Formats: sequence, structure tokens, C-alpha cells
Amino acid sequence: MLKVDNLVVKVDNKEILKGIDFELKDNEIGVIFGQNGSGKSTFLQTLMGFSDYKVKNGKIIFENQNIANESIDKRAKLGMGIMLQKPPVIKGVKLIDVLKLLNNNEEEILNLAKKYNMESYLYREINKGFSGGEIKRSELFSLIIQSPKLALIDEPESGVDVDNLKLIGEMIKNLIQNRSGIVITHTGEILKYLPDNSKGFIFENGKVIKKGLAKELFKDIKKFGFRRGDES
Ligand code: ADP
Ligand code: MG
Ligand code: MG
Repeated sequence: MLKVDNLVVKVDNKEILKGIDFELKDNEIGVIFGQNGSGKSTFLQTLMGFSDYKVKNGKIIFENQNIANESIDKRAKLGMGIMLQKPPVIKGVKLIDVLKLLNNNEEEILNLAKKYNMESYLYREINKGFSGGEIKRSELFSLIIQSPKLALIDEPESGVDVDNLKLIGEMIKNLIQNRSGIVITHTGEILKYLPDNSKGFIFENGKVIKKGLAKELFKDIKKFGFRRGDES
């Protein structure tokens, strides 16, 4: 469903991604590991189509079409959705207003809000005064309402306490059921909510330096750091 071929991306005229190859089949989950600054968030935001990220080379094939030059809203319509690592506060806009744009079935929104205990957030301004965990839950809730074919999820567990982590884990589990997803994780805590066959990718300096089963890769990372087994 997604095939990224030799993707080179510049931000502020600096090359950040230096030839990424990445592939995901239908219903598959990809997990990205890597040091701070290795290009993980840049990769997800490039997939989504944010305008700061200039594709200089390579292809992004999403469901058999090259979308590397498509707008962000076209990509959303084709079925991509993202949860940013640091979601912005949007003053003056209530969560419910955005949810209604994402899904015109208001009854379904209200039912899901009940299910995920999000009712009290619906009529607040987006992320304003929310705690770290509440922001992540609110953003994930928007993704659930949007129901994308490919969910891009950037560090869902950072800044989140244990209770919220469990809620977030369950939300992600539901979100990616029978769908595809890419999840960036720093701590690996989210792995226990992801399928055992999730694919793992280690990023370093704008490249993928290692691939394998995500859970196996993470065991190695915990023991040996990011570079073990790399020949170069
Ligand atoms: P990661 O998510 O792996 O921690 P990022 O993708 O956020 O890494 O960042 C990779 C590199 O790109 C970093 O050196 C970062 O400073 C730089 N970078 C990312 N976004 C921007 C931006 N909007 N402007 C300038 N530099 C950026
Ligand atoms: Mg980071
Ligand atoms: Mg990041």
C-alpha cells in the first residue's frame, strides 16, 4: 500500500532524508526507531505532505500512485492521517468543529466520544490547556474519527503518564485494526499494543540502517544501542 523509493528531502535547504527506502503492505504496521535528529518526524511529515519538506528525489507510491507532489489535503482524502509529535494548540476552534469536518456522522462522533471517554473535550478549544497525555488522546481521537487507511503516529508515548499510556495504547490498537500504520517510538512502550509481526526500521542520519521484526529490533536496541550488526 506504501512504497517509498530513494526519498531525498530538504528542510530549510538542508538535506535531512538521504535516500529512504520503505515499504508497507496492506494491514501492516511499520515501527521507526532511531536517535534524536535521525529524521523520523521529517519522514512522517514528508509522507503527509507538509510544505516545509521539499522532496528533491525519489518516489512516494501510495496505493499505486506517486503522491510525492500532491497537496496535504489530497493525501488526506486519499486516506492518510497523521498525529504529530508536538501537536499545536488551536485557539478559537473547538475539537467538535474539526471532527465534524472529518466525519459528517455526528451521532457516530458522539458514540465514539463516549466509548473513549472524550466527551468533556469535544467543546473545548483544541489542545488548549490539555496535559501531555490529553493532547495525545485528543489527536488520536481525531484520527479515529478520520479513520485513515494509513495512520502516521509520531511518538505517542512521549510526555504521557502510565494511565494515559494504557488508554493511548488501546486507542492505537483500535485505530490500526485492519489498517496500515507507521508508528515512531522512542521508548518502545507502545510496542506491546502493536501486532507481533510489525516491521521495524532503524533510522540514522536520514537513512534506514537496519530492518527486521520490530519487537526483535527493539530487544537488540535495548541491549546494544542502535548500531549493533551494522557493517559500516
Ligand atoms: P527525529 O524525529 O528523528 O528526532 P527530525 O526529523 O525531527 O528527527 O529532525 C531531523 C533533523 O532535521 C534535525 O537535525 C532537525 O533539526 C532538522 N529539522 C527538522 N525540521 C526542521 C525544520 N522545520 N527546520 C529546520 N530544521 C529542521
Ligand atoms: Mg526526536
Ligand atoms: Mg521526532
